[in-house]
Amino acid sequence: MNTSEAILEFAHPGVRALQPYEPGKPISELEREYGVSNALKLASNENPLGPSPMAFDAAKKALHEMQRYPDGNGFALKNALANRHDVLPDQITLGNGSNEVLELIARVFLSSGTNAVFSEHAFAVYPIVTQTAGAEARIAPANSSSHSMPYGHNLSVMRELVDANTRVIFIANPNNPTGTWLPVSELEDFIREIPSSIVIVIDEAYFEYVTESEYPDATRWVEKYPNLMVTRTFSKAFGLAGLRIGYSVTQPLLADLLNRARQPFNVNSIAQAAALAALNDHGHIEKSVSINHEGLKQLSKAFQEEDWVYIPSVANFICVDVGRPGVDIYEALLHEGIIVRPVGNYGLPNYLRLTVGRKDENDRMLQSMKKILA
Ligand SMILES: *Cc1c(COP(=O)(O)O)cnc(C)c1O
Repeated sequence: MNTSEAILEFAHPGVRALQPYEPGKPISELEREYGVSNALKLASNENPLGPSPMAFDAAKKALHEMQRYPDGNGFALKNALANRHDVLPDQITLGNGSNEVLELIARVFLSSGTNAVFSEHAFAVYPIVTQTAGAEARIAPANSSSHSMPYGHNLSVMRELVDANTRVIFIANPNNPTGTWLPVSELEDFIREIPSSIVIVIDEAYFEYVTESEYPDATRWVEKYPNLMVTRTFSKAFGLAGLRIGYSVTQPLLADLLNRARQPFNVNSIAQAAALAALNDHGHIEKSVSINHEGLKQLSKAFQEEDWVYIPSVANFICVDVGRPGVDIYEALLHEGIIVRPVGNYGLPNYLRLTVGRKDENDRMLQSMKKILA
């Protein structure tokens, strides 16, 4: 055995079995590799309007103090979030993106001999944090393609996978990349039936975008369920993906455990300041959500006209079936200067996930897709 093989041998099997997460290609990389300019990225569910100008100003101001460590307890932001969710500040845990709080919950509860349950086609970070912690990923088959919520989470199948070794259940609502969602009654029934010692994570990264009347705000249930953890992010509707900031709402006991495991200064001062300001700019969120609704309508109408199958979505992205390997169309679009997301790694090899952009951006993407698929 050579040294590399020996090192690999010592890495634990869960990590060896992982494929690295493939992020959406950055614009600079596309322009460098393909020699194109004016590239359009609709690959990572970012806000096409950018952040609130108030958040931008707050971030600039915070730069003046960059020699200092951030507030490790996030006092101001936690208080604002506590107000927003009508909970106490000690129920909020800030993370370097909500991905970090997902990783923290895994680090606190998962290890070899335990398992986490989540759905097929669910967000890629769940297997990463589960397997990195040495735990087993128990993956529940999703709804069929002909279901009213195609490829969405099937909660009764998920419930059947829960056993004595289950420590965490991950549910994205809505889910990325499918854009499917779970209504109030179905989700709360599920939470009620799970033993209260098993942590249930409801990942609400796209919360702001969803306007369906039966769509639940799971933060309201935190008082009732000590095992519930609801995560939110500033990366999507708030337009702060580059600053890496998100949070969870739980009862104080879970927050205390997460707080023990986190790094002391996990959320930087620029992100804290920008997030605090972004929270107060309701107008910017409203505008972002309304542009997203227009874009979803525009895209689904175009798909119908072209007879392209798509997964109805309530988020700021939508998956469309391109009738052949999605990576081929992804490659062809790169040559047009457009970055989207193939989702073969999510078990949807013929689909592309398109982030909803502004009208002109959606038009450009649709034109290129029609040309390529013709
Ligand atoms: C984008 C996304 C997140 C957000 O991750 P951050 O670390 O907060 O940027 C979380 N969950 C899902 C399902 C997502 O799609």
